Amino acid sequence: MATRVLLAEPRGFCAGVEMAIKALTWMVRVFEAPVYCYHEIVHNAAVVEIFERAGVVFVDDITTVPEGGVVMLSAHGSGPEVVSQATSSAAVMVDAVCPLVTKVHHEVKRAAANGFDILYVGHEGHDEALGAIAQAPESVTLVDPDRGLAGFAPADPGKVALLAQTTLGQFEWQGVLDDAQTQYADVRTSRKSDLCYATTNRQRAVEILSQEATLVLVVGSENSSNTQALVRVARNAGITAHRIDGPDDIEPGWLEGHDVIGVSAGASAPDQRVQSVVAQLRADNGVEVVRLTQEDEYFPLPPALRKLIHALQALVEGAYASSQPGRPGPIDEDRDWGATEALEILSS
Ligand code: SF4
Repeated sequence: MATRVLLAEPRGFCAGVEMAIKALTWMVRVFEAPVYCYHEIVHNAAVVEIFERAGVVFVDDITTVPEGGVVMLSAHGSGPEVVSQATSSAAVMVDAVCPLVTKVHHEVKRAAANGFDILYVGHEGHDEALGAIAQAPESVTLVDPDRGLAGFAPADPGKVALLAQTTLGQFEWQGVLDDAQTQYADVRTSRKSDLCYATTNRQRAVEILSQEATLVLVVGSENSSNTQALVRVARNAGITAHRIDGPDDIEPGWLEGHDVIGVSAGASAPDQRVQSVVAQLRADNGVEVVRLTQEDEYFPLPPALRKLIHALQALVEGAYASSQPGRPGPIDEDRDWGATEALEILSS
């Protein structure tokens, strides 16, 4: 077993995941099952399982949702056709897209409207990449960071825009950016790249762990892009790294010869899983939190959900003649609870 564990901070849930999990929790508390969710609400098997037990049906084809159903769209963002189909056929539709993904959607639409050929750096088939490309498919070419710009031939080399999935590895993004700037001197890109604060903070924290640890374990699911990026960041630093869903995935042989083990988690991994992993490692010389920064980002619940809950509150208050305009309701106290608590409530 490890003699010392270094625990990355920040790790785990980001503001977008917090918002999406709490939003879907509201949906299953307010509506009878089934509540449909287009794509996994976040890419974590444990979270998805909790919601399935609470009556959520996850679908990858929005047309399979019955007319008049109750639908939430996932945090990864959806294409315009999906949003329009869900809006027209569902009785209730709430889009839980992360605002930082929406920002990239706006960039894609703006660049396409201005006649740019868009290079979108991302992972083929990933939900976020599908939703972003669908904003202007005729103008976007997907660039896999491993393959680079090979085969891309813009109509006008002076009008190329470079955008990205929010959860890429910083080093992967930098590699494509360098190539693009070499090939297209006027390439347009966002001022600070599209990689989100949660992605970059978690990666920098793993880089710091990797200066001392000789093994890094990253908690998160296989289809979680930012989890996989954390594994690659550690390996890039020359460290042995494994992705695990929880303590049961740790193979005893992995720990042999490693006195200092780093632990982190992707943005959709529940901290309860992380704590179980740390407990399993039984560190003789303790657990040290390695803090890069304290995150205080907060994303409000989707506007459609806030409106819905306020309407329900007004209805109930009206029925009991207890309405006091302006009185705060449960939705106004959203900052006071977190996604971890929401999952505990659903699991109890
Ligand atoms: Fe939003 Fe970033 Fe979290 Fe994705 S990882 S949900 S973009 S904050």
